[in-house]
Amino acid sequence: MVKQVYPRVEINLQYLKENVAEIVRRCGEFGIDIAGVIKGTTGIPECAKMFEEGGAKIIASSRLEQIEDAKNYGIDLPYLLLRVPMMTELAEVVRLTDISLNSEVKVLKALNEEARKQDKKHKVILMADLGDLREGFWDKDEMVDAALMVEKELTNLELAGVGTNLGCYGSIEATSDKLDELVAIAERIEGKIGRTLEYISGGATTSLPRIINNDMPKRINLLRVGEGILLARDLDVFYGYDMSFMHQDVYTLKAEVIEVKDKPSHPVGKISIDAFGHTPEYVDRGIRKRALLGIGKVDYGSIDEIFPKDKGIEVIGASSDHTILDIEDAERNLEPGDIVSFGINYASIVYLTNCRNVQMIFV
Ligand SMILES: *Cc1c(COP(=O)(O)O)cnc(C)c1O
Repeated sequence: MVKQVYPRVEINLQYLKENVAEIVRRCGEFGIDIAGVIKGTTGIPECAKMFEEGGAKIIASSRLEQIEDAKNYGIDLPYLLLRVPMMTELAEVVRLTDISLNSEVKVLKALNEEARKQDKKHKVILMADLGDLREGFWDKDEMVDAALMVEKELTNLELAGVGTNLGCYGSIEATSDKLDELVAIAERIEGKIGRTLEYISGGATTSLPRIINNDMPKRINLLRVGEGILLARDLDVFYGYDMSFMHQDVYTLKAEVIEVKDKPSHPVGKISIDAFGHTPEYVDRGIRKRALLGIGKVDYGSIDEIFPKDKGIEVIGASSDHTILDIEDAERNLEPGDIVSFGINYASIVYLTNCRNVQMIFV
């Protein structure tokens, strides 16, 4: 096996645990449990463990292989599948998870059959689409009927509750009005089944503002939080919330300099297309000092999603395996073998933690 030292992502597990504990504590004050969502960090078991130690009540992911890894690592919490299941993965859903989010009657029936085969009781949370237009029942009468069917006919399923997801496709904000709609659906179902639902799951990181603003509808009792714990950047950058009570530097990307030279800033010759078939704008700033890094778009996605920690360093471009920095105004002198650090966000962490040539180092 090749021994590669860089690029690497350094993960501060103590900070991660403290972030989990902080969100668990704040939501706990509102009677809300946290399902810790590990998909943003590709389910790295050491990170999943911090969700357990920080007080999350459930471990959640959209991907079964991450759930299997966490279980094998010995994390002893209920497991929740976030992506509504594929028909072809139901046996594994029942084997590996305790709860799944669902939106299709056909799938619920097959899931019940599979749970019967495995002699298990599997919990389901029915998803309501409140306008974000990804998964979930759009017709709420159909949703109530499905809930009644689960309750009365699908004896190997347990109707654990209802949930919704906002701010993913349709960019719809998780306002208290939207979450009131979810509570109303839950109460309609409760009226018909004559008991209280275990969970009313009011969304993801994008629902945390309701905690911060103190306007979360009372009956919401479960949030599924990933980004707001792992990075705590989105609410800060996109919504303007002061998230300084969280560690925003759990993850640090480090890459190695492989070339430093003075070169023109405008390409020399006939311009056609770059490595990905595009023609970016090249600004002519004359001869500039630049550094080349041994990391590229294959590792992190887009240069807009990595943020140099050094003042005066600018990312000016990249191809699959190379990243080009303008270091003319850098405060330190770089040479081959030096290391440059970056903050990352959700759009880059998902690639970096998935990339087998990027080392994960726990600090
Ligand atoms: C990804 C996901 C979450 C967690 O989202 P974050 O923004 O990381 O908090 C919650 N629920 C569902 C259904 C998801 O797919």
